[in-house]
Amino acid sequence: MSDDSATGHGAPRTVVVKVGGSLVSDKRSDHDIDEAAVLDYARLVADLARSYPGRVVLVAGGGALGHGAVRRKEHDGRLALLPLTRATFAVKWVWTEAFRAVGLPAVPLQAMAMYAEGGDGPMFQTGVVSRLLGTGVLPVLSGDCVLTADGDLRILGSDHVPGILLDGSFGPVRVVALTDVPGIHAGRTGDSPVVPYLDAADPSRAYAYLWPTAAWDTSGAMRGKVDAFVAHAARGAECVIARGDRKAASLRHLMAPMADWPKDLPRTVISRSRPA
Ligand code: ATP
Repeated sequence: MSDDSATGHGAPRTVVVKVGGSLVSDKRSDHDIDEAAVLDYARLVADLARSYPGRVVLVAGGGALGHGAVRRKEHDGRLALLPLTRATFAVKWVWTEAFRAVGLPAVPLQAMAMYAEGGDGPMFQTGVVSRLLGTGVLPVLSGDCVLTADGDLRILGSDHVPGILLDGSFGPVRVVALTDVPGIHAGRTGDSPVVPYLDAADPSRAYAYLWPTAAWDTSGAMRGKVDAFVAHAARGAECVIARGDRKAASLRHLMAPMADWPKDLPRTVISRSRPA
């Protein structure tokens, strides 16, 4: 195995795997979740977590249930977004049951209970994540609504959730978003080349590649991901966007130094330095 840890692209301590909602649901509907697809991805993530005990965290994309809860918001009060925590908990529960079915202990954690914004900046509570990892249990996180400094709720999209884990003892952290595209395409169509690397210090280049976002999408699709990943990279994370394949043989390359990833696997890395 090569070691390019000097450039920040060696094997990470922790891999946060975010499985995009587009892989397990039709986000234009309000309720759809494909439990068979969740089971397939749970099998892959469980294999990774068993191979690297205590080093894997799952973030479940909210998919149709998450986007649906935001679209159906009924009033404008301070806590109007609260149904989002119920919807995303339902998503986490589907994943938790899938992990149980494949024999991996997993516990859903509400992001709202781990993160809030105060007058002095964000507050993170990650002790339970460390304890779960230390006892061989997979933490299952998702997007949520979170408390702002003014006491209102705002949406914390699932691509932003890995940020909760960047201030503690989890680093170096690699965040991998598995989604329905093989990375950020350089052109306007899905057959254009994938941009291999984007410098988090110069995000304007990343934004220039983005396609318009559909009106039904409440998290900004790839734009939301770029916003989140540029922020994570600025805090030291190595972020990767790649296509998810529920029938893949394994996800173990996600724990390898970038230089050891399969050469024919397209991906976009967003970080503060270029992988070798
Ligand atoms: P969620 O964030 O809801 O969990 P997800 O992570 O699976 O879902 P999206 O947020 O929908 O994925 O982001 C992937 C989408 O980004 C693609 O399906 C594509 O339509 C859109 N997109 C916009 N610009 C680009 C681009 N330049 N290259 C590739 N995809 C792009």
